Amino acid sequence: MFSVFCILTNFVTAPQLTGTDDFRMPTVVRVRLVRELRSVNNITVVGARFAASSDKDTKVIDKKNDGGGVPPIKIEAKDSKLQISVGEADTFAQKMFYLESADVDNPLGIQTSSKKIRHYRGRLWLAAEGDHLLVTNVIDLETYLRGVVPAEMAPDAPIEALKAQAIAARTFALKVRVRYRPSGFDLDDTTMSQTYGGIEAEKPSGDEAVKQTERMVLEHDGRLIWADYYDDCGGVTAPGSNAGDYPPPVIDGPDDKSDFCQIGQHHKWSVVLIPQDITKRLSSDERRKIGVFRSVDVLDRDVSGRASLISINGDDGSIELKGNAFRALIGYDRLPSTLFKIKSEDNGFKFEGRGFGHGHGLCQCGAIGMASAPYQKSYADILLHYFPGAHIRKLIGAASN
Ligand SMILES: [Zn+2]
Repeated sequence: MFSVFCILTNFVTAPQLTGTDDFRMPTVVRVRLVRELRSVNNITVVGARFAASSDKDTKVIDKKNDGGGVPPIKIEAKDSKLQISVGEADTFAQKMFYLESADVDNPLGIQTSSKKIRHYRGRLWLAAEGDHLLVTNVIDLETYLRGVVPAEMAPDAPIEALKAQAIAARTFALKVRVRYRPSGFDLDDTTMSQTYGGIEAEKPSGDEAVKQTERMVLEHDGRLIWADYYDDCGGVTAPGSNAGDYPPPVIDGPDDKSDFCQIGQHHKWSVVLIPQDITKRLSSDERRKIGVFRSVDVLDRDVSGRASLISINGDDGSIELKGNAFRALIGYDRLPSTLFKIKSEDNGFKFEGRGFGHGHGLCQCGAIGMASAPYQKSYADILLHYFPGAHIRKLIGAASN
């Protein structure tokens, strides 16, 4: 039995952007590595054999003649320039610099000050912005997905659920890149895009899911879908943040008695918030000063039953917050979803809720439930349940791996 660990996931619902969608296979995707490298000014890259390219030339940094190892390459950002040191002796400056492994069996590793090494396939593109080092992994889409799927869904999930996840992640990657393109990259490696962990995240089951769904994406009305996903919908998916958002909400179960996602760890939850806790969270924001907290009420709900407008009332006034803003205030992990009811208790307010995440699009625990006994649904059944009326189509052009 797989562990019920439907995972982390992108909690930001995608914006509705306009433009023409491109169904061609991209040559590469550019993934800005910020999860562990957001504010670093230097890294060390280790590997067996490098091909290093600058604006002018490419040189291969290979084993020494005496058979000694390749020295690590230290790259430091200073005044918008890169200081590059190979071993002790060879130091030079560049504005921009690429590194790639010249040996496929020995991919590049990035070591930060924490001494941890994380390995990446493809190329590393390095640039300096002031004293900040910008590190971008330039990699083909299918290989990128090998580092995403097991980071977004438990790798011991049934293969059909992993395949549905792979198609959603591929579609989301192509759609969301519009957001970052002006900054010179396509995606980052956090939940703001999708979690990407490089080679350390890869798993055989994830590789298989990516391979079996090669080039497949979701289309609706001739457009790529914003293939949002999250952990657990609690039994009904959300309509999205804006009127007319696609996909519409769906009941996530085969009948009234059971939910596909009932296996989820957060399918039903409750949390008690004490008044002092809410007062403290509000007090950090001048605009939200209400004095001593007294009560909290749901003023409006969306068609799925999620709290969409909440009033927080205190001695000196009230404030109204949208459901997601209230969740952000309390903490995304502390308040797993906005599908809740509030009960007043002696020591505070009890939130009894269901699900984990924003609820719009693919329910990952539901996908796992649908792929498992007794339903045994295929990846296509799963995707068309959460994205009604969608089509699965293949990107034009061959994958490069
Ligand atoms: Zn669900």
